[in-house]
Amino acid sequence: MSTETSREQTRAGLDGELAEALVRSRRFFTRAEVSDDLRTLHRKGGRQADEFYRDRWSHDKVVRSTHGVNCTGSCSWKVFVKDGIITWEAQQTDYPSVGPDRPEYEPRGCPRGAAFSWYTYSPTRVRYPYVRGVLLQMYREAKARLGGDPVAAWADIVSDPERARRYKAVRGKGGLVRASWDEAVELVAAAHVHTIKEYGPDRLAGFSPIPAMSMVSHAAGARFYSLLGGAMLSFYDWYADLPVASPQVFGDQTDVPESGDWWDAGYLIMWGSNLPVTRTPDAHWMAEARYRGQKVVAVSPDYADNVKFADEWLAAQPGTDGALAMAMGHVILKEFFVDPATPYFTSPTTSRGTRICPSWSPLTRSRASRAPTGRASS
Ligand code: SF4
Repeated sequence: MSTETSREQTRAGLDGELAEALVRSRRFFTRAEVSDDLRTLHRKGGRQADEFYRDRWSHDKVVRSTHGVNCTGSCSWKVFVKDGIITWEAQQTDYPSVGPDRPEYEPRGCPRGAAFSWYTYSPTRVRYPYVRGVLLQMYREAKARLGGDPVAAWADIVSDPERARRYKAVRGKGGLVRASWDEAVELVAAAHVHTIKEYGPDRLAGFSPIPAMSMVSHAAGARFYSLLGGAMLSFYDWYADLPVASPQVFGDQTDVPESGDWWDAGYLIMWGSNLPVTRTPDAHWMAEARYRGQKVVAVSPDYADNVKFADEWLAAQPGTDGALAMAMGHVILKEFFVDPATPYFTSPTTSRGTRICPSWSPLTRSRASRAPTGRASS
């Protein structure tokens, strides 16, 4: 693709002629002037000009939905719709009761969700690919110089330590420029092909969102990486809003008690998640469990929002929490398994740590009996 074509495809405006024609057609339904950039409607005239404001909360139907983009909270919302446009949202309050002896699921939801309709239509919503300017400039230059070969262009950049350092050093500093879909896809494909040629397909690692809400997009990406022979990362690795270690250690996602089970715990450690901020709809379980006398400990290097809920704050130095977890495991095993033999650790268990139940089958029992039963030598 020539640079001219790229510029043409990245010009300001909407997605294409059809989208522009649809937006312009609004003047047939609403007596108003549509601005040249199609961003605003202008109306004139006394009290009629206030209609925008008065109509703010009007709607012609209410539908149930949630926010499946960038969130797996799956909170239930009433979405108020007018002329096919979301006008506002309110939380649904019809979750089934979980019984009289524990808190209900409500209230769920979060401030981001309550404002979701605002950024659905926001002019600042990201709808196009953006690439770090310095990288895109280098890529276009290399591709033009190397006869239009995208893979050769990518190899040329990443094999040059100085240019590789230049584009990596500006990560997180802004400077993103809009690219066309074709150019962005080409660049990503070139990086994949180069990595496979140079290091092998098992050096690819990727993630496609989001298994809990967008199965089609997740499955497409998972299949892509599986067929290539790369490593599929979990969404916990990316969002870090729930236990990252779970999929990393056990290989599957959400094979853990759900947040409602926090109520049953006697001791809760918040570690790796700032609950009120990153898991807002579930944070109430943690606060409510305090009424049962539950002890809450926060492990966090900073005085994060969740720390104020804790009885104790363990401010681990950044980067040392892995060592802290291993040290805690060491103390537990040494003091309750190696030195004194504590029945909880020495009695037969299943491979998942469940106590053996007498009614289990002999097969299960014989497998479980291979668990350590005696005092280990130190
Ligand atoms: S946590 Fe917030 S953004 Fe996510 S589904 Fe619930 S309300 Fe929506």
